[in-house]
Parts: sequence; C-alpha cells; structure tokens
Amino acid sequence: MVRPWVKEYYGLKLKELIERGEIWEIKRLMSPAGPRAVVDGREVVVLASNNYLNLANDPRLKQAAVEAMEKYGWGPGAVWAIAGYHEILDALHRKIAEFKRTEAALVFPTGFAVNAGTIPAIVEQGDVILSDELNHGSIIDGIRLSRAEKVIYKHCDPSDLEDKLRQVHGKYKKILIVTDGVFSMDGDIAPLREIAKLAREYNAMLYVDDAHGEGVLGEGRGSPAHLGVEEEVDFHVGTFSKALGSSGGMIGSDHEVIEYIRNRARSWLLSTGFPPAVAAANLKALEIVMSDEGRERIRRLWENREYFKKGLEGIGFNTGKSQTPIVPVIIGDTKKTRELARSLFDEGVFVVPIVYPMVARGTERIRNQVNAGHTRDDLDKALAAYEKHGRRLGIV
Ligand code: PMP
Repeated sequence: MVRPWVKEYYGLKLKELIERGEIWEIKRLMSPAGPRAVVDGREVVVLASNNYLNLANDPRLKQAAVEAMEKYGWGPGAVWAIAGYHEILDALHRKIAEFKRTEAALVFPTGFAVNAGTIPAIVEQGDVILSDELNHGSIIDGIRLSRAEKVIYKHCDPSDLEDKLRQVHGKYKKILIVTDGVFSMDGDIAPLREIAKLAREYNAMLYVDDAHGEGVLGEGRGSPAHLGVEEEVDFHVGTFSKALGSSGGMIGSDHEVIEYIRNRARSWLLSTGFPPAVAAANLKALEIVMSDEGRERIRRLWENREYFKKGLEGIGFNTGKSQTPIVPVIIGDTKKTRELARSLFDEGVFVVPIVYPMVARGTERIRNQVNAGHTRDDLDKALAAYEKHGRRLGIV
C-alpha cells in the first residue's frame, strides 16, 4: 500500500495522460518480433518491430544461446566490472570491432546504456555538445547527465550546425557532435558527409548512434559506411536490439578510448550486463549479417521497403522523409492515429500509433517498419487494410 496522497497524485497524473490519449496500450503477442505473430489465436502481420533482418527468432541464434547457457550458466552474477565475464564477451568485442571497422569495441547492457553512460564519460564541464534536435531520448539523457554545455542544431541541417559551431568555436575545451545515423521516427538518414566535414574543420569529435542503420545500410555496416565516412567517426554506437535481432548495446573506437570509457561509463560499471547466452546469440547475429546470407537479407529488406512505401504513397498517405525501412504514415492527429491503428489491428495488421511525447504534437503517426521476412502477401494485406481505413477516416 502506498500513502494515500501518493496514490491520488499519480492517479490524477495518469488520468491526464488518458484524457490526452497519451497512454501506451501494450498488446501481448507470441513471437512479437515478427514478421508475423499470433495474438489471441489470430495471425497478424507485424509492422512494429525493429527486427529488420528477421533474425530475432533465427534457430541459429537460439542454438548459440542454448549452448552458451549450458556451458557458462545463466545469470551474470554481478556487473562485468566486478564479476568479470566469460571469454565469449572477448570474442564478441573482437567481432564488433571487425563489424564497425574500429580498433576496439565494448558491449553495454543496452543501447540506451551506451548513450546514457558514454556521453557523460567523454565530455565534462568546459566542453560543449552539439546535438540534432531529433536525436534519440537516450542521447538526450546522456547529455543531461554530462556537465557539458548543450547546443541543439536543426534536424539534419549542416548549415545550422555550422552556425552553431562558429558560435562555440574557441570557447570550449572540446566539441562533441552527436547524431543518430538513421532517425527512428522518420526513417531519414543524417547528412554524415557534411557533418564529418564540419567536424574536421572545427576539430570536433563525432559520435554516431547507428541503432537503425546497422544491418540496413552500407551492406549492413551502417550509415557511416553507406556515406563513406567510417574513418571520420570517433564513436561508433549501436545496438543488438534492432536488425541484429537480439539485445545489448555496443560502441567501437580506438583502444585507449574504449578502455577509458570502460573505466568511466557508469552504466557499464554499475549495471549488470546481459547473460553470456545473449553474448553468444549476438556473436552469431554479427556473423550472419557480415556473410553473403546477410547481404541477401538486406536486399530483400530493401525490396520490401520499396514495394511498401510506393504502395502507401500510391494510396495517398504521407510517408514524410523516409529513406530507410522505417516508413511512417504521418497523420497529425492523436485520435485518428489511434483509431487507424486499432482498425488495422482488427484487420490483422499490427502497427503502433506514435504520439506525443514520442513525437512532437501535430506529427502523430503510425510508424511502419518493414522486415526482410515479410512476404508480398503480408505487405498486400497491410496495404489493403491501410487503404480501407485510411479512406474511412478521411486521412486519404
Ligand atoms: N538509440 C536509438 C537511435 C534507438 O532508436 C534506440 C532504440 N530504442 C536506442 C538507442 C536504445 O537501444 P536499446 O533498445 O538497445 O536500449
């Protein structure tokens, strides 16, 4: 039992959220990563998962995890810094470095933990961070936890970034530019060539969180590879929770930098890492993504993405600035967004309404994420449902 005023206080706060339609309804799905899932005995097409390459339920990942669990046990026991870790984590670090083409790498419990721990570890009072206005929340929290000055630049706008760089130049010890590689709500790609050029000119450090670019762009290596600037990124951040079909965060950089981060990032030092079984599955996922099979999965992903995006646009939906398998349908109204998502679900299509505070008010949307494992039938079923209910609701 909580104190009566505590119950009343949060009860009222919750009521406000419900009234504004800003509450998350959580559905229970079997195999929620998709491309299809079963809900209450009915099969739905899943367009709401980050499992771009359809690796989340891959038997090879499961087998790697089971074998590692038998060999190393389940629970990690304590934080990696205290209890240490199994050799499988060393192998994973080497594999990430190969994947990110960096000297060294480090895993974190989650992608969120990389940003929340690394940013405060690498900048301090007297430094300045330049951050894209639509960067992921974990970057925003990492910046808040650091004691550096924060300057926000306009979304994907190198000329605004340059203005801001001019303003801060010479006034701080270090400059850090932070950007998502692919933006998770719009599916657009950061202009990394222009940003890297500015980083060079102003001697700034460049930090790219490529959570939605890895396994998708640059033959799987991500957005810096796609745009030919891998060498210019100082901090290559990512996660196993999207295209790699698993869970856990990662960062690649030079040896000294990684060793420093390992000794200073509080989310590494003070938070228990994932079990060794997860490390084994992560290793397997990286092997697959870097193989010919991985390239074939990426090809299918893009084929599906082109088909689905063209289909939505043909019906008349606004897919915004999407350049990747994240294809939003921008509606700009909380109630209609929710209603469309509910109707799609009734037709066997699982999507998620994205409303404030996930996105700005007036840009409410359904975020579709296409998967390499979607069949033409899956996508046609989704498009037909979109057309029917988009018209009924007067969205198209
Ligand atoms: N960065 C970005 C850009 C993301 O989209 C996400 C996923 N929500 C994260 C970091 C956090 O990753 P994780 O879910 O592995 O904590």
